[in-house]
Order: sequence, then C-alpha cells, then structure tokens
Amino acid sequence: MNPLENNKPSLSFEVFPPSSKATIDGLYTSLHQMEDLRPDFISVTCSNRQLSLEESTVKIATHIQNTHQVPSIVHLTAAYLSKKEVDVVLEALHREKIRNILALRGDIYPGRPRSTDFLYAGELISYIKAWDTSFSITAACYPEGHPESADTLDDIYHLKEKVQAGADQLITQLFFDNELFYQFQEKCWLAGIDVPIIAGIMPVVNKKQAERIIQTANVQLPRKFLAILEKYADNPVALRDAGLAYAIDQIVDLVTQGVSGIHLYTMNQAEIARCIYNATHSLFDLKSQDALSIL
Ligand code: FAD
Repeated sequence: MNPLENNKPSLSFEVFPPSSKATIDGLYTSLHQMEDLRPDFISVTCSNRQLSLEESTVKIATHIQNTHQVPSIVHLTAAYLSKKEVDVVLEALHREKIRNILALRGDIYPGRPRSTDFLYAGELISYIKAWDTSFSITAACYPEGHPESADTLDDIYHLKEKVQAGADQLITQLFFDNELFYQFQEKCWLAGIDVPIIAGIMPVVNKKQAERIIQTANVQLPRKFLAILEKYADNPVALRDAGLAYAIDQIVDLVTQGVSGIHLYTMNQAEIARCIYNATHSLFDLKSQDALSIL
C-alpha cells in the first residue's frame, strides 16, 4: 500500500545555474514568472565542473527563498569534494537558512582524480546528518536502474541504504514510461522504502533536447513518444505542443494513481512550468485518496 496516499501530491520545479550573465538574468526573470505558481519547492542543480557552488547553486537557491519565498533545495555532488569542502558548503547553507539538500555522489569522469571522502551518496547523507540533523535530505533514484548498477535490485538495495542514512524523500530520474515507475515504486515499498518518491518529469519541447535525450538518457523511449519526435522533428511548434501534451498525460496518470509528487524539469523556462500548471493544477488540490475514489 502506498504509505502516502492521504497526502496531497507536491508540485516542484528544477532549474539549473546558467553559464553566462545574460542567461542568469533570464533565469531570474523566469523565477519571477514562476512565483505565482507557488511550487512546493524549487531545486537548483550543480555541476562537478563548477568552480564554486556557493557562487552559483547556493546563490540562486538563496534568491529563490528570499525573493520569492519559495523553499529551495540545493543539489550537492560530492564525488570530487573533501569533507572540508563540504563543510564550507554546509556553513554557507546554514548562513543563508537553506535547510534542504539533494545529496548526490555525482557522475564520475574517468581520469579525473577523486576525493576518497565520499565514494557514494549514502556517505554524504550520513555526513550531513551528523553535521546537523535539521537538514532535510533528498536523494536521487532511478526507476530504470542507475547505469552503473548490476540490476534494479542492487540499485534498490543501495537506495535503501541512502534512506537508512537519512534521506527524507527521493526524486526520480526522468522517465517516459509510467509503468516502469509503478513497478519501481512497488519494489521500493516491498523493500521497506517508505519515504515519498517524487516523479521527475521532463517535457520534451525542442529537437535539440529530444536528440540529447535519445543519445544520453539511459531510459526507455515508448513508441508513442518516439512517434512524436519523428513526426514533428521539423515542426518546432507541433513538437513543443505534442511534447507538453505527453508530459501532461504522464502527470495526469501519476497524480491520479497517487504519486507523492511531481518534480518538473523546467529547463529554466517559466512558460513550460505555467503550461503544465494550467493543465493540471486542479488535480494537485485533491487528496490522492479522493483522486483514486473517483475511478
Ligand atoms: P549513488 O546513490 O552513490 O549511486 C551511484 C551508483 O553506485 C549506483 O549504481 C548505486 O547503485 C551504486 N551504489 C550506491 N551506494 C553504493 C555502495 N555503498 N556500494 C556499492 N555501490 C553503491 N548530477 C549532477 O552533476 N548535478 C546535479 O545537480 C544532479 N541532479 C540530479 C537530480 C536527480 C533527481 C537525479 C536522479 C540525478 C541527478 N544528477 C545530478 C545525476 C547524478 O549525479 C548521477 O546519476 C550520478 O551518477 C549518481 O549520483 P547518485 O547520488 O545517485 O549516486
């Protein structure tokens, strides 16, 4: 049984730190335009290649909280950080009153020397919880398995370790086949993982993004989804409309079936968040139990 079925599903957004001054201004404009959608939180990604997390991710997360009064989550990847470097980030978060961290190991780049302080995300979660128990921790999960895992069971075994280390909720990698999410969710419940599992949904709205997903995302692409990409590849408006409709269809199904929350990969575009919000927000106001009982 879904342990969260009496709670309302959350709706949250993800943004990323842009690389140039012009695009940072664009992000701040987008955040301003997202404010009246009142997301439950906005998470800000980070990159292993960034020079300073405080100057990028933490700064944007602080802006979200202080200017828009929306709780923010800071993504923190630790594969290349020492404990001392993590301390600096945690102190900055403390100073800025940011209480939420998405604790990650991060991708491994062959040939780049690693710190041995945090081999896996679970170690970072334990470290943060020991540093200050009041931090709320989110961890990543992979309905179709992490690419390095031998199989999904191995992945779920390590996912449970992250929850036991102190993760309060999980956000999934993007997926396009809801059935795979439901199967994963059920395996997690059977394994005793009882924290909210928030579904990460990425609306695919342009050709470049579609090509990147086909090449890099380690997820199954259903026939219905591939047909959209193929048929509308050279029609940007139709591709955008069909991509948004596909994401909305996924969200309607997930919320109706009692998902804990939807985390929207907005790609820093407020109009994407608004379009999805306009089409689905009444569903989020119902309790999951009500949503199931109308069937
Ligand atoms: P882990 O949980 O450590 O898992 C990595 C692999 O190791 C898995 O195969 C797991 O099964 C295995 N494993 C875990 N613990 C153990 C153990 N104790 N012993 C043996 N094996 C173990 N990347 C970024 O660079 N920046 C971001 O902002 C970012 N945000 C993300 C947000 C979400 C919601 C998701 C799903 C991913 C995000 N990523 C981000 C990508 C992520 O960094 C990569 O997928 C990375 O390869 C794994 O990070 P993790 O925290 O999931 O690792």
